[in-house]
Parts: sequence; structure tokens; C-alpha cells
Amino acid sequence: MPGWATASELAGRLRSRELGCVELTRETLNRIEEDPGGLGAFLSSDRGEALRAAEEAQRMLDAGTAGPLTGVPLAVKDNICVAEGVTTAGSRLLENFVSPYDATVIEKCREAGMVIVGKTNLDEFGMGSSNENSAFGPVRNPWNPALTAGGSSGGSAAAVAAGIVPLSLGSDTGGSIRFPAALCGIVGFKPTYGRVSRRGLVAFASSLDQIGPFARSVEDAALLAHTISGDDPREARMRTEAPISLGGLRDRPLSGLRLAWPQQLAGPEVQPSIRATFEVAISRLIEAGCTCEEVDLPMIRHGVSTYYIIAPSEASSNLARYDGIRFGRQVEGTDHVATVAKTRGALLGHEVKLRIIAGTYALSAGYHDAYFAKAQRVRQRMTLEMDEVLAQYDLIVSPTSPVVAFPIGSAEMDHLTLKQLDLCTIPANLGGYPSLSLPCGLAEGLPVGLGLTAQRGMDESLLAAAWSMEQELGSVMPPSDAGGVR
Ligand code: GLN
Repeated sequence: MPGWATASELAGRLRSRELGCVELTRETLNRIEEDPGGLGAFLSSDRGEALRAAEEAQRMLDAGTAGPLTGVPLAVKDNICVAEGVTTAGSRLLENFVSPYDATVIEKCREAGMVIVGKTNLDEFGMGSSNENSAFGPVRNPWNPALTAGGSSGGSAAAVAAGIVPLSLGSDTGGSIRFPAALCGIVGFKPTYGRVSRRGLVAFASSLDQIGPFARSVEDAALLAHTISGDDPREARMRTEAPISLGGLRDRPLSGLRLAWPQQLAGPEVQPSIRATFEVAISRLIEAGCTCEEVDLPMIRHGVSTYYIIAPSEASSNLARYDGIRFGRQVEGTDHVATVAKTRGALLGHEVKLRIIAGTYALSAGYHDAYFAKAQRVRQRMTLEMDEVLAQYDLIVSPTSPVVAFPIGSAEMDHLTLKQLDLCTIPANLGGYPSLSLPCGLAEGLPVGLGLTAQRGMDESLLAAAWSMEQELGSVMPPSDAGGVR
């Protein structure tokens, strides 16, 4: 089994004929079916379709038309539409939903010759941080199966961390790529809002949602980001036509790189062990020539409360389409209204219902100005503050998560505590900035993520800085005796 090989290594072995594409796909599908460690990372997998795609990729390899990721297996978060099989978004309501089309990112991955091997588990509609809001069960962390893999893209993170696939796609509305990447010890990247098409992503909060890669190395993350980004005439909010380019990925020395550490993300919310590992990583980067200064970003303190007004408001509007009539399963009632109410009552999970209610309230005529409009003003001020800092520094840094992976079912993690864990990731979504989580060491024997955020549109320099940091910090991937399934 390929195990810990990176996507670039696998692609090289495929091109040199050392490895056959069908053979690699078959091994990957077997691993998915075996579900080593009972991780619960995958919700579905279409063996026939994957093998057909593998044969097609082998033809590209044989014809010499292969690209850098041709033949490489890809796992896809189950809120991204793939035309074969179901797209559940982790919800009972969409348990039988078959998308009539591929998401734009899927079209692009297919064109590149990637092989889609399965759909991964997630918190229902992407709402959560521990994957425990999935209607189909939690996802276990490959480092220790008693612990959460994080969320909401828990399945995509665990699948890469466990060595089942080298690459996967997730979506990030308030941290759902970076947070589970940090908890699983891999790279997770949320591109600038508008550089990757959201067409075919089951919408959660449209002004925040962004699709991005999980990978074992920054180079792999950059390759997949390059593949999925770029113009889509069917997406109204594309920022630029240019895909994220790979040129210069290895050319950004650490010396002279200016890092800003907001003191608001260094407070008591951050576990002391995480802080210690983060500080060691920063001092190594300083030795390698970076500078790092503490900065003041007072509005960041309001990030979590602002997000939890805006995201549920947008969700309450986006989820109005799931009425059991136009979309999804239906629970019959006496009339239309009763049908909608029964369907939603019976088929949506608690957290999703909570958010629809909170969002509808925040948007209602009497409260719109007090909540939604005010949250938008705070969002704007926070973004201005961050823009000022990013005019003077190259990157804003902080731990990605204030805690290491925690036990599944932990009573301490009630739904309000879980929301506080988003404090370091949410600012990048509110401002549309590109942001990446890079493994930077261990705390309590578990992975710690270094969060890096750059100015909008600076995806390439962010990836290049992360690549150089990765050379300096190494990866935290190896130990097969970590208690997990590797
Ligand atoms: N944890 C956040 C939430 O529950 C982020 C989710 C996400 O990024 N999809 O909303």
C-alpha cells in the first residue's frame, strides 16, 4: 500500500510505470472497504466508477498526456457534488440525493486525470468542529481512535492522515479544512474566497464557503489547489480567472519573512502545551531568518460571535430549499406546510435546526439591524484591521486550533465550547483571506497546527512561505506506533 507516499511521489511512480493506475486504485479501494481502525472516514465509494477512471488515467499516462496528478486517488467531502452515487452532506435529508452534475472542482480534477475513490464523512451541512454532527457517525483520529479527527471535514482529514489516500477535498466556512488538518497532523489549505469555484458545493454560508485541499505536503496541497482553481463562468463570485500558479513555490526564502502574531490569539483560550509547541516552531523560524512581532487586532475578539450571526443567517436562507419537495427525502404531511415542517423536524439534526432558528431570528424584520447588520459592520472593521496588519507583514500567524484532538463524546465539549475553538480560523473566512494549517510539532503526543494567513489573492506567496517553513519544521507524520492505524 502506498501508505505515506505523497501525491507527487505516487504520480512520479505512475509516470515511470513502476506502479499501475488500476493497481493503485484497487489497493486504495480495498483500504476504504477495510476501514482500518474503524475510522468512519468514508460514507460511500463507487468501485466500478473509480476503476473506470483509473483505466482512463492509465490511457493518459500511456499516451504521454499525463499531468502532475494524473492517476492519483482523490477523496471528496460529501458536500461536493459528484454525479455518480449520492451526495448526502452528512444529512438524513439528502441520504438519497443524486446530483445531476459534477461540481466544477470535480470537473477540473477529472480533466487532470485524478481518480475519485470515495466520498468522505462530515458534520451535517458542514456545521460543526468534531464531526459528531454527522447523521452517519463520527470520524476517528488516526493518531488515536478514541479522539475526534476534527470537523467539519473530518473524513477528508482522517483519510489523508491514515494513509488511505494522498489527497482529499474539503470545504472551509469557519475553519473546516484547517481545524481537522491541525488535529490530524496534515496540511490543510483554504484559498482566497473566489479563487476556487463553489459551484456544486452544497451551500452553507455563501459569503464564507470555500473548497480546498488536504495533503501530506505543501507541494501536494499546491498541486491540488492549482488543479481546482481558476475561472468558472457559471460562478458569479470568481475573483480572478487565473488558477493558483505553481511557479516560485520553492523560491521564497524564510529570511526576511515578516510574521505578525495577534496577541488576541495568544490568550488563555490556547492550551499551554499548544502554545509551547507553537512558540518553539516560531523560534525555529526566527533562527532561519523570519521576524515575528506581536500585533494588536482588537476586533478579532469578536470573530466567533460575528461568525455565529452571519453563518447561521446565510445558512437559514440556503437551507430553505430543503423542504422535502424540491430536494431531499420527504415525510408526508396533511398539506405543504405540514410536509415541510415534518420533513425538517424528522430528518435534520439538532445543530442544523438550532442554526436555522438562530439565523431566521437574526434576519427577522425586528432584529435585522441589531444582529445581522451589526455583525456585518464588525466584519468590515475586523477586515480593515487585518488589511492594515497585512500591509506591514507578510503573514498573520497563530496556532490553528487552541486545543489538541479531544475525546469523541467528551462532555466538556458542549456546543458552545466547540464554537469557541474556531477563534483562530474564523477571521480568515470573514475577510476572505487565504489561510493554511501546517503541522509544526506535537503537544501531548498529538499534532499541532501552525496557522498562516496572507492578504487576499496572495495564495502563491502563502504556499511558497509554507513550503519553506515545512523544510525547516519537518512533518509530524511518521510514527506508526502513535496508537493509531498507521
Ligand atoms: N466549526 C464551524 C461551524 O460549525 C466551521 C464549519 C465550517 O468551516 N464548515 O460553523
